[in-house]
Formats: sequence, C-alpha cells, structure tokens
Amino acid sequence: METTHIDIAVIGAGLGGAAAMALLDKSGFDAHVFEQAEAFSRLGAGIHVGPNVMKIFREIGLEDRLAEIGSHPDYWFSRDGRTGDYRSKIKLGDFAKTEYGAPYITIHRGDMHAEQVEALPQDRIHYDHRLVDLEEREGDVLLTFANGHRVAARLVIGADGINSMIREKLLGPEKPRFSGWVGHRALVNMDKLRASGLDFEPCVKWWWEQSRHIMAYATKNDQSEYYYVTGVPVDSWPHEAGWVDSSREEMEAIFGNSHPVVNALIDATETVTKWPFWNRDPLSLWSQGRLCLLGDACHPMRPHMAQGACMAIEDAAVLVRCLSETGIGDYRAAFDVYERTRRDRATKVQTISNANTWLKDPEDPAWVYAYDPIHAPLAT
Ligand code: FAD
Repeated sequence: METTHIDIAVIGAGLGGAAAMALLDKSGFDAHVFEQAEAFSRLGAGIHVGPNVMKIFREIGLEDRLAEIGSHPDYWFSRDGRTGDYRSKIKLGDFAKTEYGAPYITIHRGDMHAEQVEALPQDRIHYDHRLVDLEEREGDVLLTFANGHRVAARLVIGADGINSMIREKLLGPEKPRFSGWVGHRALVNMDKLRASGLDFEPCVKWWWEQSRHIMAYATKNDQSEYYYVTGVPVDSWPHEAGWVDSSREEMEAIFGNSHPVVNALIDATETVTKWPFWNRDPLSLWSQGRLCLLGDACHPMRPHMAQGACMAIEDAAVLVRCLSETGIGDYRAAFDVYERTRRDRATKVQTISNANTWLKDPEDPAWVYAYDPIHAPLAT
C-alpha cells in the first residue's frame, strides 16, 4: 500500500488533540490528526473550562462561541453535604473576566468538542484511523493504522489519552493504576428539579466525610441542563468495562439523608453511570526522538480539580508555540523547551487534583486561572 508523507501527525482527536491540530494548522504546519473513533457522539458529561484555557480558545477563534453556549457561574461554591454550610465561595463570573482575563465556563463536553472538531480543516481529520504500529526510521516515523493506511510523519504528537500507544512506545507497556475512586455521572431532569422549588446553584461542590463529593453544575447558558459528577472511594473496580450503569438507589445509599438540595438532585436522577478513575505517576520523560506526548497520555489525573482537559489544551498551546519558535527541523529543542515549560505546572495540578483539596476551603486560584499559555514566557 502507498505511504502518505506529512510533517506532523497528531494521534487522537480528543480535547487535547483537537486543540493541538487547530493551533498547528493556524501556525501553518502541515499537520493531520488521526482518530480511532468512526465519529464522535454527545456523551452525557459536563466540563469546566477555566480562563486559562478560554485564552487558548480565543487564539483558536472559539472563545465567543463557547462563551455563548456555556454557563457562566458567578461562584464556585463548596458546601457541607449535610448542613449546606458554605465552606468556600470562590469568585468567578465578571471577576474572572477582569482578574483572570477570560470567562470561566461550564459546558457539556460533547458541545465543546463538537465546536473544536468543526473548526478544524475537515480534510485533515481522519476518523476510523486506529494507530496499531509505529516504526522510527532515519528521517521520519512510519505509522500503521488498523484500516491498513500508512503514513510517514516527521513528528508524532501522542494525544491518545490515558492508554496511549505513544506513551507505551516511549516507556514500555504499563497499565494505568486504579486510583481507588469512582465517579457517577448524570444529567438530571430539569423539570423535576424545578418542581422541587429549590435553588440549584450553577456551580457547587457538596462535600462529605473522606472527601466524598458531588460536583453539580449547569452545562448551558440558559441553565436548561444540569449535571453532576461524584467522587467516591471504593475498594476495587471489578469490571472489565470502561464504565457501568449505576442507579438512583445506589446514589441514595451513598448520599441519602443529606441537605434537601442534594436529596432533590438524587430524586431527579433518572440515568446515572459509574466510571473508574485511573492514574499514573508523573512520567520520567515526555518525548524521545520524533515522538512527543500531551494531555492524559502524559499526566492523567483524578478529575477533582476540573483541570485535566485544561492541562491537555495548555500542553497543546505551549508545544505549538515551541515548534513555531524553532521550526520543525529543530524539533528536539522544541520538545525540550515544551517539557521544561510544562512539567512543573502539570505535575502540580496532577498532585492537587489527585489530593482532591481544590477550592474546598478558601484559597486564591489565580495561579491556575490567570495563567496565559499563549503569552507566558517559555522556559529558557
Ligand atoms: P482524551 O480526551 O482521552 O482523548 C484521546 C483520544 O485519542 C480519544 O479520542 C481516543 O479515541 C483517541 N485514541 C486513543 N488511542 C488511539 C489510537 N491508538 N489511535 C487513534 N486514536 C486513538 N477536565 C477538565 O479540564 N475539566 C473538567 O471539568 C473535567 N471533568 C472530568 C470529569 C470526569 C468524570 C473525568 C473522567 C475527567 C474529567 N476531566 C476534566 C479530564 C478530562 O476529561 C481529560 O483530562 C481529557 O479528556 C484529556 O484529554 P486528552 O485529549 O489528553 O485525551
């Protein structure tokens, strides 16, 4: 079969890979993105997007559109799950715009991803391309896909998630570690919520003993969709599947007899799924030869800081800046500056996210939200 020659192959068109592809294209690189899925669907889950990443969407040309779709909470509240007492009230809304330089939004991740993918040059996104083999050669990397296509790329960016094949090539096979935590995810019935007559705040994290929690928030600008994700410690994940069905009864067993708003949230739950959270220790290297990692391939984390995808997108922005400065020919220098610019910040976020302490009590989040990945100095 014929081999196609390109400069840069991005493997995986998830939230990080799609951002990398958009920025590479904008910077004039001959880049293509290869995704194993045949198509993307609107999976039922929400996501927070901090001002740190809205600045990258500004660069891509998507900030206004995402701001139009997403919800703009005025605060991130942390509350006691039983008494409802406020532990912290972190200012967002207009404060985020003026102090951090961009809005803070919560949004359905399917809606955000659809906008990201639609904004890409469609002839450069290749679905149904599951990478199954790669061979590093003298001047390029030969990629072989499950559908039989072969591509020779001068550089390969592994944005292929926690089970990354590129990571495995760099560091050898190693399964991610079960973190001991699961999350339940549900989009709840708005009519039932409204019928309760209670106030469902646009962004609130409810806390119980052992840091068990429910993070609940709106995913649309008009507040017509409400979503929650939990964090619950468990002994093991005995399932083969990536997620399993849960139930309102399971939610009641874990969080029942709580504050009336929480009880109403559980009452309004119709469909809820349960997901294991996987982890890895910080990697000993982020790139080697012509291969480079970003996002969950590089630093997966428990999701409790709502910054995992944000770190993937920040990685993408900094990596493309580094490549733009050096040009493709000096890719080793670009990968080196990229890793030195990103490693401390990504590892710090990974550590705090795994500890599940973020914004539980009053703290200043400026170091995360005010950061500007498009203009911040690169490591020297
Ligand atoms: P992924 O999104 O996993 O994308 C990887 C892509 O690569 C996929 O499309 C996959 O199909 C493709 N792929 C894999 N292998 C191959 C292959 N061999 N060939 C071709 N394609 C391949 N983050 C936030 O910032 N804010 C939040 O509020 C937030 N909430 C979360 C809630 C939960 C419950 C969870 C589990 C995570 C949450 N995250 C959040 C984290 C976020 O989802 C991840 O960090 C983010 O999706 C990582 O992006 P990525 O592009 O690195 O990987």
